[in-house]
Amino acid sequence: MSTIGVSEIDELQRSLRGSLLVPGEPDYDEARKIWNAMIDKRPAMIARCAGSADVRTAVNFARDHGLPLAVRGGGHNIAGSALVNDGLVIDLSRMRSVQVAAHDMRAWVEGGAILGDVDHEAQSFGLATPLGINSTTGVGGLTLGGGFGWLTRKHGLAVDNLVSADIVIASGERLHIDHDSHPDLFWAIRGGGGNFGVVTTFEFALHAVGPMVTGGLIVFPFAQAGPVLRKYRDYVEALDDNVSVWAVLRKAPPLPFLPAAVHGTDVVALAFFSPQPPEAVQSAIADVRAFGEPVGEHVGAVPYAAWQQVFDPLLIPPARNYWKSHNFNQLSDAAIDVVIAYASKLPSEQSEIFLGLLGGAANTHAPDATAYPHREALYAMNVHTRWLDPAEDAACLAWAREFFKAAAPHAAGGVYINFLNEDEADRIAAAYGPNYRRLKEVKAQYDPDNLFRSNQNIRPGV
Ligand SMILES: Cc1cc2nc3c(=O)[nH]c(=O)nc-3n(C[C@H](O)[C@H](O)[C@H](O)COP(=O)(O)OP(=O)(O)OC[C@H]3O[C@@H](n4cnc5c(N)ncnc54)[C@H](O)[C@@H]3O)c2cc1C
Repeated sequence: MSTIGVSEIDELQRSLRGSLLVPGEPDYDEARKIWNAMIDKRPAMIARCAGSADVRTAVNFARDHGLPLAVRGGGHNIAGSALVNDGLVIDLSRMRSVQVAAHDMRAWVEGGAILGDVDHEAQSFGLATPLGINSTTGVGGLTLGGGFGWLTRKHGLAVDNLVSADIVIASGERLHIDHDSHPDLFWAIRGGGGNFGVVTTFEFALHAVGPMVTGGLIVFPFAQAGPVLRKYRDYVEALDDNVSVWAVLRKAPPLPFLPAAVHGTDVVALAFFSPQPPEAVQSAIADVRAFGEPVGEHVGAVPYAAWQQVFDPLLIPPARNYWKSHNFNQLSDAAIDVVIAYASKLPSEQSEIFLGLLGGAANTHAPDATAYPHREALYAMNVHTRWLDPAEDAACLAWAREFFKAAAPHAAGGVYINFLNEDEADRIAAAYGPNYRRLKEVKAQYDPDNLFRSNQNIRPGV
């Protein structure tokens, strides 16, 4: 890394339409906060870009000065890849515009938008695209890793709905890429993460959704976890694409529809979603209810945009978080037993184990159709350890790691890159799976010096 003089920093500052923050400035500490409070990195400078011209300037500056570079979208990545110590952060959090062309069922989304921005704009036309389940997550990181949520079984992953992108690559050029223009790069960004450049605009296909959909929770006592999860497993294997059901094992939050005596006790919550109205899915709701004897239930018509925010209160920063994740193609009895054994000893009030349901439209593509390869995975299981007091770090990490190890023999071997932690570089090959080799070749072509390496990194190679 070359030494950078004050005059060069001033020059960079002047050349941006946005702003440049350096240590000591009033907004600096706020700007280096991200979702996971375990991450405490101190960048040398944070370029709050206002548009693609700023992004190009910042990419050129980092490259020419040999500075470590990170790209921040929504700041949600568990591994803290949005920040880099002693380097330059391209902060896209001021680039959140969303343009909808309702007639063409398309949305153009700036690289720093969060999911709620897209839902807000698209839902005003009764449209949506598959993104994730928490409205404050960044569209950028989520999409580049694959991106799944409530609409995935019906309409596929976020990457399956990506029509084109504008991307600033390591040379500083901005390319418009799609199936016809730079098809190799367009393939790579659909699952290859932030390895290939800074996406300034994503173009998504939209679908008619809602505005009213069906959503809610059916909650069972932990004592019924065995039969409930086995019935859940058998049921979702043949589930209609119009329905999604995720399973969450955690301590019950104080939800108004649950009896007070249940609050804070271990439960199995099944989150039910369908883009259809409740009357169309009554029998599916009844099927799920019949998995056991629920202690509470609240399922019904809800505006899609509101459903997309329903889990936000459980995910508000600052909290310390540590994740461990496995994909499962199927859930054996032994896998269910391990899940239950560890859910019975959650290390903190807010920790949970969840099974996110894939399948449906997400699994109709070949593994090499996009860089996201896990087209056989039916569940992405995430061990979401979450706590407030640093004194609990050791116990929380130990629980997550032990559970991860105990579950490994029953899992598919793959993992979703967006759920990988900082300490999991040894799982990167498994995360990119059979596409890893081609990704390394595309990386060599577009970023031979690995400028974009604060991510689940793909080293250039042929
Ligand atoms: C509370 C919570 C809920 C989640 N729910 C889901 C879910 O339902 N479904 C799901 O699929 N995932 C989910 N995730 C995981 C999520 O996909 C990843 O954390 C993802 O990395 C978040 O993207 P971000 O832009 O917010 O993160 P950031 O930390 O800002 O970015 C992560 C990385 O993405 C890259 N990046 C981001 N934006 C751009 C861009 N415009 N151009 C180039 N590179 C970019 C960079 O390499 C960066 O290091 C969730 C995460 C959290 C914390």
